[in-house]
Amino acid sequence: MTTEIIPLGTASAIPTRTRHLSGCALRREGHALLFDCGEGTQYQLLKGGLNRSRLDAVFITHVHGDHLYGLPGLLATLALMNREAPLTLVGPAGLEAILAALPGLERERRSFELRFVELEEGFGHRVVFETDDFTVEARELAHRIFAAGFRFEEKARPGRVDAAKARAAGLTEGGQFEALKRREAVTLADGRVVEPEGLVGPERPGASFAYVLDTRPSDGGRALARGADLVLHEATFAHALLARAVETGHSTAREAAEVARDAGAKKLLLTHFSSRYAEPDALVEEARRLFPNTDAAEELRRYVLGADGVTRG
Ligand SMILES: [Zn+2]
Ligand SMILES: [Zn+2]
Repeated sequence: MTTEIIPLGTASAIPTRTRHLSGCALRREGHALLFDCGEGTQYQLLKGGLNRSRLDAVFITHVHGDHLYGLPGLLATLALMNREAPLTLVGPAGLEAILAALPGLERERRSFELRFVELEEGFGHRVVFETDDFTVEARELAHRIFAAGFRFEEKARPGRVDAAKARAAGLTEGGQFEALKRREAVTLADGRVVEPEGLVGPERPGASFAYVLDTRPSDGGRALARGADLVLHEATFAHALLARAVETGHSTAREAAEVARDAGAKKLLLTHFSSRYAEPDALVEEARRLFPNTDAAEELRRYVLGADGVTRG
């Protein structure tokens, strides 16, 4: 099963003619997640051919407008489409109160249930969303105000059965192969017991994706990015403007590369570019000096976890 990451907006606080405000979709058979929802995000979802009604959950990093102001519009659209399925909203404490204060979004007027998962300052880390085959965990970041980053991770998959060896050992039925996958011994019709050792490979780790913005380099960011197949990290400024990055609670391109390198990530995408950079080329070059597998996130491009240059180890 493939998972696609689709950046929807790569601008920081001020959108430009070519860059939208923060938002990033994750698509996987039967599921769609949204990370941040800056103004205009629902139009980007449309342009990207992403089905809004498929959304399972929205994860808001912090309550700066460039990450949040698209959410009321998106929720209003979902209500007009007569959505009935519940929607999980993960974000900083106070998110529910902010939305409930907007006309039309009061609890009693919604056509569908909003399930809030609110994160308090000092929460450390927490699994905030889980299905049968993946989890999303949150960790605290280091911004001017309370902010959290997120990590999507597929659950580990069972090892592969060496079919030729298993058959040679006497296994014939699908159910026996499934048992081996679960690392259970199989008793054959003639009473012989076949142990899984040597017939099943090691568990295969699932693909992972880290969403790390807005933040200074932090332990939380590094933990989210640990060994990740793909890290989307903010790089608001070039390192020449480090003082400005410190002052505003952001990262430079070089710092984003350091986080990816220290975390042993496989690929880095930079995003959240200051409007002063017409093109992010210089930021990408700066990051590549420390972490060669870096690109600027391209809006509406589909990055497939486990393929397309985003390889799984
Ligand atoms: Zn921002
Ligand atoms: Zn911010």
